[in-house]
Amino acid sequence: MDESLAKTLVHVGFRSAIIRIHTGMTRKQVTSLRKREGIVGPSESGPLPNAESLLAKKEATLEASLFMLAYLITAKSPRTTIDVEAVMAAHSQYYDCHAALRNGQLDLENVLEIDDAWVIARDYRSKEVTMQSCSTCHIEFVVSINRPKHCCPLCDGVQVRDRFHCDHADRAVSKRSVAELIELSRKVTQWANWGYSPTEIQKELGISQKEFDACTKLQGFTDPQLQGVLDKYTSGDSLVKALLKDSRSRPVHSKVL
Ligand SMILES: [Zn+2]
Repeated sequence: MDESLAKTLVHVGFRSAIIRIHTGMTRKQVTSLRKREGIVGPSESGPLPNAESLLAKKEATLEASLFMLAYLITAKSPRTTIDVEAVMAAHSQYYDCHAALRNGQLDLENVLEIDDAWVIARDYRSKEVTMQSCSTCHIEFVVSINRPKHCCPLCDGVQVRDRFHCDHADRAVSKRSVAELIELSRKVTQWANWGYSPTEIQKELGISQKEFDACTKLQGFTDPQLQGVLDKYTSGDSLVKALLKDSRSRPVHSKVL
């Protein structure tokens, strides 16, 4: 058992269930640690929620998206583990940002609590939630995969571009988020290893030729380079364009990063 981690989690105010997952402590041990530290734990009725219910409201989606943007920059392998240290760091950043937007006040009805932030990170790992980017205002936001209709929480996501707009170079080539494309590039590798053809992979994953080509280029990136991509690009569209811009001479990551 990691005593110092347990103390940190208790002080941050996580629910007992979450503390137990990360420390292997029993409910009793958590209770007595709280007592020793003079901490009153949060009220804990019922099971932990899931991200789908947390993201039911537009305001909540916006708050959760602010948290996730910070979390995905900080977390180590967010698709395979819940990085609880990163949850705390990202939540603290998110809290500052939330308050700064409201003259130092908290919007108590909508602020994302630490337990809920953890749930979003957990459901991102289990692929119950994913990041999407708005084709209108280009922000990235978190969505539950169980909801068929995803509206942008900021502009309500009119997903249709100006129909008189005909600048070819400016046309969106991907509506996916950067994180989604990175995830897809892993799947492309996997499916290719299983012997599927590019056409079959595109069809199965529902990706365009350009997204497929971009995913293929991402396969050569190391983890730190992928992190660099996440830090640098705000939308999958801009990443795909950068990846496909010029494929001669220099290695692709040095042009993109
Ligand atoms: Zn939008």
